[in-house]
Amino acid sequence: MRIEYKDISKLLGYEPTVYRGGGHHLSTAGKRTPYIPGIGVIREYQFNRPVNERVGELLEQIGFRTVNVSPEQATEVTLGKRAQIVNNDFRKQQKKYPKLAWYELGVGVSIHYNAYNGIFDKKRGGFSTFHNKRSAYGKKLAQFINEEMAKGTSQINRGLKTNNLAMTRDTYPAYCLVECGFMDMKTEAVRMLDKDFQEECAIEIVRGICRYFGYEYDDLVTIIPEPVKESINKHHDTQRRFMKKMYEQVVEMLSEGMRDEYKLEEISLFLAELLDAAIEDIHSLKQQVEEINYEQKGYKEAN
Ligand SMILES: [Zn+2]
Repeated sequence: MRIEYKDISKLLGYEPTVYRGGGHHLSTAGKRTPYIPGIGVIREYQFNRPVNERVGELLEQIGFRTVNVSPEQATEVTLGKRAQIVNNDFRKQQKKYPKLAWYELGVGVSIHYNAYNGIFDKKRGGFSTFHNKRSAYGKKLAQFINEEMAKGTSQINRGLKTNNLAMTRDTYPAYCLVECGFMDMKTEAVRMLDKDFQEECAIEIVRGICRYFGYEYDDLVTIIPEPVKESINKHHDTQRRFMKKMYEQVVEMLSEGMRDEYKLEEISLFLAELLDAAIEDIHSLKQQVEEINYEQKGYKEAN
């Protein structure tokens, strides 16, 4: 199979921006799990960063522009500085697209992992999405991401929440902060390093963002099976079985020909026919591949 991407910037007529951040630095105080035997402590950064990167990758594949607001630096990028990065860029986007409403230009998402009291507490787990209570568009974004996360994970949905968080409060675009799990719940702490879980969170965040802009992720990303390869493989199998049968027949004939020299003429005739059939086969295979390529081209143009 292969994946075909539609470009949301072509569908919308402008390039929407997503401000994305994986909150915290490796060195940020706190922001880590309690000690886990055999693993040690897991930093929040070890989850947030790969998910943030993957969110960027997935979004850019479908035509979003993304701005990483927690770039890799020796020290933590303060929340004030991050909000400034977002707002400076957002102003430029407003100048670039003066006719668009602010809520169409872009959105922001902060990716986090929650903690309760820093000790393993079985009872507290789940994911939640936060928005600023005064932002209707922030709420809309948080709602979509929350719904998408609820579809994909077996965790408890702690729901849509409001909080006076810097990134959702001090930034111009609609903003959402996602807490993907709890660092002080054992099962969720261990999942932080699980690549499949990281991928799931990233794709659900992206799905929610797509819906904010009026598109379903599945309509933008199409998985197409590869009929060319499959048909050739199938053909090769038939060919192989055919050749094996022929080979067995030739061997049988040759052993007969050893006994009867008149058979040798028959054998050489047969071998010539076999060669002709093989050449014909190669031609038909070539033709089939051309036909399938033509069909795929048609599919591409129609879509
Ligand atoms: Zn955090």
